Amino acid sequence: MSKTDGIRINGTRLWDSLMTMAKIGATEAGGCNRQALTDDDKDGRNLFKQWAEDAGCTVTVDAMGNMFARRAGTDPSAAAVIAGSHLDTQPTGGKFDGVYGVLAGLEVVRTLEDNDVVTQHPVDIVVWTNEEGARFSPAMIGSGVFAGAFDLEYGHSRESKEGETIAEELARIGYDGSRECKSYPIKAAFEVHIEQGPILENNENTIGIVTGVQGMKWLDVTFEGDPVHAGPTPMSMRRDPMRGISAMMQAAYAMIVSIDDDARLTFGDIKALPGARNTVPETVTIAVDIRHPNEATLGEIERRLVSIIEEHSAANNVLATLREEWYSPALEFDQNCIAAVEAATNELGMPAQRIVSGAGHDSVYVARVAPTSMIFVPCEGGISHNEAENADADDLEAGCNVLLGALLNMAIEPDRG
Ligand SMILES: [Zn+2]
Repeated sequence: MSKTDGIRINGTRLWDSLMTMAKIGATEAGGCNRQALTDDDKDGRNLFKQWAEDAGCTVTVDAMGNMFARRAGTDPSAAAVIAGSHLDTQPTGGKFDGVYGVLAGLEVVRTLEDNDVVTQHPVDIVVWTNEEGARFSPAMIGSGVFAGAFDLEYGHSRESKEGETIAEELARIGYDGSRECKSYPIKAAFEVHIEQGPILENNENTIGIVTGVQGMKWLDVTFEGDPVHAGPTPMSMRRDPMRGISAMMQAAYAMIVSIDDDARLTFGDIKALPGARNTVPETVTIAVDIRHPNEATLGEIERRLVSIIEEHSAANNVLATLREEWYSPALEFDQNCIAAVEAATNELGMPAQRIVSGAGHDSVYVARVAPTSMIFVPCEGGISHNEAENADADDLEAGCNVLLGALLNMAIEPDRG
């Protein structure tokens, strides 16, 4: 590695590229609306392709529109080292979510070119299609098909609200690529991303060494009672599903804080039906989101929540039913990739901590087919999926330098370095 010591990315060039990309789909409030497979997404992709080719890469596109910009290594048969993320945004998205990971990968390749760095392994910068899931559901569909979580027909048939399919829109913008959408030999995959939460900023750390992604489960809990008139029916003669709800919630909050600092419980929505002021509700449905980085603990949280719900329904003589709406198991990233990120962070002397991602990312699917890990940098106030999303140029530069170090650690064999 000695010949690459001291190589640093160009932070100003990275920032300028981010700001240039942000003009495509720019919103009046300073954010970005560059949703997947729109004309703006096409313009963003074309710009990335031009930049990647100018940096000496060969760009190919697969059947899901995922883009692969390759900087060749000396060994054509060696597995690739990849840096990937997404260029699409939420309708009222920011300038950094996803885009930073792609353009940081580009900046790394530009830096390798500037310094005539030769790697044994090829380096691929990957743009995954429709990560956000804003225009087409589900989210992370491009990386999902790539990793075999969904088949191509499913991916192609997803529809926007207007009824346009992914296949139609890929063809319309010219990104229905000829490359097969499937995994290939990858030695290591990295994704650098803004944290989208407040932890790094709060702890005054520049780098988050991401060890995994929280397990997440969505439950719909419905309590059913008797919808009677609010006036004539005495309190003692009601089966009221709203009664005791706050006590049930307090018990659940007490349970979750007793688990550990990584446990999360959110009651994001409560719906009472029929929803009239002077009628006892027939049903109350609560949308629940529980999360934990450890799969066994996530299961324990669910078991305890269920018993709290059962106590509540017995005490109030109402019927409780639970429906699982969505489940994404906890994921631990690859130890070698984590170690490469940690080594690069230490070499730079950056204040850092280990962290678990609270949000989903393309890396969740990529991790199914390749050794993977992520790097986080702080974002202002932890705000993301918002036009006000902001990040410090120095932090973005630091994260990109960590990406450079981690990539080189994997792309240059120690015996060849
Ligand atoms: Zn993202």
